[in-house]
Amino acid sequence: MTQTDYYELLGVSRDASSDEIKKAYRKMAVKYHPDKNPGDRSAEEKFKQVSEAYDVLNNEQKRAAYDRYGHDAFDPQKGMGGGFQSGRRGSAGFQDPFDIFKEAFGGEGGIFNDLFGRGSKRCSTQQDGSDLRYDLEISLKEAFTGVEKLLRYDRHVSCMHCNGTGSEKGSKSGTCSTCHGSGVLTMSQGFFAMRQTCPDCNGTGTKIMNPCRVCQGRGCVEEATKTKIKIPMGVAHGMKLRLNGFGESGVRGGRNGDLFVVVFIKSDKQFERDGDNLHCNLSIPFTLAALGGEINIKTIDAEAVLQIPSGTQPDSILRMRGYGMPNFSTGNRGDQLVHIGVEVPKKLTSEQRNKLEAFALSLSGGEKSWFSKIKDSFQ
Ligand SMILES: [Zn+2]
Ligand SMILES: [Zn+2]
Repeated sequence: MTQTDYYELLGVSRDASSDEIKKAYRKMAVKYHPDKNPGDRSAEEKFKQVSEAYDVLNNEQKRAAYDRYGHDAFDPQKGMGGGFQSGRRGSAGFQDPFDIFKEAFGGEGGIFNDLFGRGSKRCSTQQDGSDLRYDLEISLKEAFTGVEKLLRYDRHVSCMHCNGTGSEKGSKSGTCSTCHGSGVLTMSQGFFAMRQTCPDCNGTGTKIMNPCRVCQGRGCVEEATKTKIKIPMGVAHGMKLRLNGFGESGVRGGRNGDLFVVVFIKSDKQFERDGDNLHCNLSIPFTLAALGGEINIKTIDAEAVLQIPSGTQPDSILRMRGYGMPNFSTGNRGDQLVHIGVEVPKKLTSEQRNKLEAFALSLSGGEKSWFSKIKDSFQ
């Protein structure tokens, strides 16, 4: 019996990073997911295989064992690496890939997704709470000053009524009849034996005889949560801020997950940010460009006077030192970079025209313009 190499299955090299493995797996999982290929046995088989490959390669220990022993590492009959079997109590086992699949499609949608895809139904099996993700949009000005925001979101907390056990007070739980208390189901697929977390007891091995009437036996309830977060000034687009312990509650004494706040900065009408520098456009009359002078210009927090040197050319960039964004770590401000556009009047009064013609004449040293000279040469 031969099994396809896990690395080959996922189409990654043997030294692929865990990120590459995850990406490759997601692509495959999306392609072969049974929901997308109803009735297609070969897609289903392929999905199982890539899920199995991912389950191993995504786990540092299992991957090391696989690199060393190959598929034998996970064959119970060979007695090697027995500790690497899936289906430990509380471990997601082969369920995990399904959750990654869910994550690939953006979870339940909306602004608020379960970062690692561990969903609501299985919270009764988990010891530690999952991490959560919150996408927060702020303006460029708020990123400049720093801002305090109130986050509202739902998270799962341990059910107070049953202390997270899922059983109604005073009632006992029995052994799960589906898995006989092991929490794991072994399924034969031809030559393969696959282990899966027992779906009836979610891997706990116990069956709740009299489910808690508050949480319906889940051991946790959804709770609306509010928390304030201080966004530091100079925060960058896409920066992740971590709030320790603000994720899902740990069940039965497990630690709480964390809340990851991902900061998105809305694009600004006036300024474009480049690191600590801010770019903006400014149109000035051609006379000001030629003569030089001062002009008022908006900065991110106020207004300033910009000196235009005489002879400023179109598309030149004037640097205003210290008018940019504060650096996230040092607080030192970057620069404002002003991209100069030069405005040419579309209409002239006859007086203006005369003066400009006189000026044009002065450019050619009092003689006729080059254009009239060319015209003359053809006569
Ligand atoms: Zn309860
Ligand atoms: Zn069971």
